Amino acid sequence: MEKHSLKEEIESRRTFAIISHPDAGKTTMTEKLLYFGGAIRDAGTVKGKKTGKYATSDWMAIEKQRGISVTSSVMQFDYNDVRINILDTPGHQDFSEDTYRTLMAVDSAVMIIDSAKGIEEQTLKLFKVCRMRGIPIFTFINKLDRQGRTPLELLAELEEVLGIESYPMNWPIGMGKEFYGIYDRYHKRVEQFRVEDQERFLELDETGDIIGDYPIKETSLYQQVLEEVLLLDEAGNEFSEEKIQSGKLTPVFFGSALTNFGVQTFLESYLDFAPAPQPRQSIDGPVEPATEQFSGFIFKIQANMNPAHRDRIAFLRICSGQFERGMNVTLARTEKPIKLSQSTQFLADDRSTVNSAVSGDIIGLYDTGTYQIGDTLFAGKQKIQYERLPQFTPELFVRVTPKNVMKQKSYHKGIQQLVQEGAIQLYRTFRTEDYILGAVGQLQFEVFEHRMKNEYNSDVIMESMGTKIARWIENDKIDESLSSSRSMLVKDRYDNPLFLFENEFALRWFQDKNPAIKLSNPMDDH
Ligand code: GDP
Repeated sequence: MEKHSLKEEIESRRTFAIISHPDAGKTTMTEKLLYFGGAIRDAGTVKGKKTGKYATSDWMAIEKQRGISVTSSVMQFDYNDVRINILDTPGHQDFSEDTYRTLMAVDSAVMIIDSAKGIEEQTLKLFKVCRMRGIPIFTFINKLDRQGRTPLELLAELEEVLGIESYPMNWPIGMGKEFYGIYDRYHKRVEQFRVEDQERFLELDETGDIIGDYPIKETSLYQQVLEEVLLLDEAGNEFSEEKIQSGKLTPVFFGSALTNFGVQTFLESYLDFAPAPQPRQSIDGPVEPATEQFSGFIFKIQANMNPAHRDRIAFLRICSGQFERGMNVTLARTEKPIKLSQSTQFLADDRSTVNSAVSGDIIGLYDTGTYQIGDTLFAGKQKIQYERLPQFTPELFVRVTPKNVMKQKSYHKGIQQLVQEGAIQLYRTFRTEDYILGAVGQLQFEVFEHRMKNEYNSDVIMESMGTKIARWIENDKIDESLSSSRSMLVKDRYDNPLFLFENEFALRWFQDKNPAIKLSNPMDDH
């Protein structure tokens, strides 16, 4: 892969995350994509370092005990002269704010849907974050080798639940035991599922029918697909590259990741439309990726796998220029210089063939407590400061107090640092200033408790408050008497007031009673 200029190098990057509900097939799909890339290169996976220096840490013990992986990774591979970065979005029980924040570092998302289940809860949450950013979303409807819902039903659900237009790039011919393949509207061909002695791809004539005599043409399922495709052509959404780019229309692909069917077709179509690294918004306006000056922002900090050393790994998305080992940069928040030398070991040494990292790529930096989530790093004299990452609405809350009241100092220091780092959200009640922690996933609390004990020597008592619906108040005046157990008034760490509602019912009841109070959710559309 020989590139001539920084611009060309950057334009060959595609950086995306897969959004899906657990079990939809994210892992299977990722494996197949890596397979097409010919090699698995770890550009940031700590999972791959099991035999390394972190293997015996307490951190891994949490992972082991729960049978999950706390670590997130970046997988990089080349395909047709394109360098692809896939960012993992931890799901299952390790769903957390990090999962959301990962979506801040990508230029597009691939949404995987189980054809039998349709849109599931976690997919919807992640989708909302993508929509908030207006990034392109590509949909892969998976498991067509099994009996699922009809494609028309799935599309209708997609449009209704997600409120996005869809354009089927291909259409399944049957499913389950009678899955014959896909009718590829984009490539104008039929791709057969069970190929055996037949060709895999059958070309279509001008009328959209397969050229030549093939058994598939005699099936009623194929005839039905011809009718459905005609219906899509006439009554369906129009294909619009512009709408794809702005995240208003999602191209939809059908396939089966497990049997590796439709994945390569998906990948190639994806590469035709997925955006190269996009400009990032700084406080002084957008920064073009091909700008010579190096800059990037930290979207995730992988904390303290080795409590003895307090080492952390900060994940940086490069937004402009080119990264070089040992380069001198400035941390925008403190305006202090930093040399990125030791800190870059994270790029595995065996990547000898790898060109240096440019805009769109992700690098891992060793961190001893220097970085915070959302931090900007830049080279050169001209200060670049990227906009603050958005707040994500927590759903789970606990009351927290120190076990030992004599150790207030370490308790407060620990909380303050972990909150700043973005590991957890902190709220305080009015007057009594009780501490309440908020998270989007249960694991965040466990990690918090563990780190308070190990890093700050502070045992905490956490009392679950269960799930709450957090809504910020837009009005200037707050009437503290409106606070009750069902609609609790608290303030966030920037002192903005918000209510924690017990449930949807309490929220609606409150709104009915207090129509003058404007409630907002940062994760709603802007
Ligand atoms: P993840 O939780 O989204 O990462 O899902 P996995 O990739 O681990 O897949 C969940 C389960 O679904 C596994 O048992 C897979 O083998 C299975 N699976 C994934 N893709 C397909 C598919 O295309 N067809 C069928 N029948 N099973 C699939």
